Amino acid sequence: MNIILLGPPGAGKGTQARLLMEGGGLVQLSTGDMLRAAVAAGSEVGKQARAVMEAGQLVSDEIVIGVVSERLDAPDVKAGVIFDGFPRTAAQAEALDRLLAGKGLVLDAVISIEVDDELLVDRVSGRFTCGACGEGYHDTHKMPARDGVCDNCGATEFKRRADDNAETVRARLAAYHADTAPLIGYYTAAGKLRTVDGMAGIGEVARAIREVLG
Ligand code: AMP
Repeated sequence: MNIILLGPPGAGKGTQARLLMEGGGLVQLSTGDMLRAAVAAGSEVGKQARAVMEAGQLVSDEIVIGVVSERLDAPDVKAGVIFDGFPRTAAQAEALDRLLAGKGLVLDAVISIEVDDELLVDRVSGRFTCGACGEGYHDTHKMPARDGVCDNCGATEFKRRADDNAETVRARLAAYHADTAPLIGYYTAAGKLRTVDGMAGIGEVARAIREVLG
């Protein structure tokens, strides 16, 4: 099964992708994670993407499509892919159609996770993750039970993304509305779109996603 999680920054795409992976077999393909890894590694892609990401704008279609195309050549994707944060533009959506068709793969569903804008700035600007296992936390909604210690793995190092500040989140939201939200129409026309309410708690959203996937 190949699915896309579509939604604004902070909708819970990464969280839900990780939960879906636990269910079995599927691979999470997060272009944001891949680009952050490229920035950290100082690769050519990373050098080109860094400033754009820090400003909350979209990295060029050419770069992102190249990264995804390469990733889809790896054997593990045959089990099925959860696209998280890709596609984000009409050109990326069309490129993904071509890439999948070229590999004889089918896009099964696009899940649009809907959340009000006002909630997103708060959700994103307060979030941080465990540096070891990636467990997600939030300054006001979900602090570790023991101060400074990850509930999940016991590690004591935490990370915050450079672009998770209120000002950059607003730029990322603007990019979402201008370039990514129109994909809802694209995938509705293709008969692939399913919608879930992303305002609910993590477990409830996960159940809703499993339900729409059947
Ligand atoms: P994310 O982790 O999905 O929130 O992505 C973080 C940042 O990486 C975005 O704000 C963009 O600058 C960049 N990015 C990630 N995925 C894409 C994409 N599909 N197209 C363009 N830029 C992307």
